[in-house]
Amino acid sequence: MKRLFSALTLSMAVFCSCLLQEASAQNWQELKSEHFIVYFEQDENFAKEVSYKAEVYYQRIASDLGYARYSNFWTWDNRVKIYIYKEKESFLKATNQPTWSEGMADYRNKQIVSYGWSKGFVESLLPHEMAHLIFRDFVGFKGEVPLWLDEGVAQWAEEAKRSEYKQLAKQYLRQNTLLSLDDMMRVDIRNVKEVDKVHVRSIIKKDGERLFLFIGGESLVTLYYLESVTLIGFLMDKYGSVSFVDFCRQLRDGKSLQDALGAAYSTYSIRTLQDLEDRLIEHLEEEK
Ligand SMILES: [Zn+2]
Repeated sequence: MKRLFSALTLSMAVFCSCLLQEASAQNWQELKSEHFIVYFEQDENFAKEVSYKAEVYYQRIASDLGYARYSNFWTWDNRVKIYIYKEKESFLKATNQPTWSEGMADYRNKQIVSYGWSKGFVESLLPHEMAHLIFRDFVGFKGEVPLWLDEGVAQWAEEAKRSEYKQLAKQYLRQNTLLSLDDMMRVDIRNVKEVDKVHVRSIIKKDGERLFLFIGGESLVTLYYLESVTLIGFLMDKYGSVSFVDFCRQLRDGKSLQDALGAAYSTYSIRTLQDLEDRLIEHLEEEK
């Protein structure tokens, strides 16, 4: 089954992990803007571009998610810190991330940590990690926020990804390789450190039948991320940001995922996780 995925890679995939780590102390140069402080080891021009784009994304992401009126402002002492390591090796070493990780958002210290990988950093990683922080600012830590929701929101903020995830998800559905939502709730992608270990997951078939999928760690990570962004894209495209804000508000107030879904989406016949899975499949099948 691993073969199935080899042709299906997401371009500029950002796999990040959201652990609470502090960037190690070293001699950073810094660049300050209204909402951000960029720390860098070399290449000031790149740091300037990061700083400029961070301000642009800050406005766009909050507005796309429907949070514009609610978000806290990241100014002065609350500015978000962005650390750019020189290379991947030093980033991994300093943060103890799994090897598939390209960057991380640290909620506690309000910082984004990665390394200078040029285009991918600015277009993909930066909006991704910023969306993690903006989402957490809004939703807090009280409610039941599964990792797929967190990663879905973050990837949805990568505009370049929006044009392709849906087609890929349809392809996976046709090949009977989409994970069930039960498994999406259970799998902890942060523990997938051995990329060639085989994992067994239950999957969704179009007719509702359950099958088992044998999958390598790397493919599992790819599939998990793809399905996460597909779920958020579906909720946003189909029901809009007003319902999504309502859903997030329920989670912020401490509701379980299922109760929050029911409160925000029951008018669209979504009251349970199974309903969400069913509506998603209908959506993927109806659109050409
Ligand atoms: Zn992420």
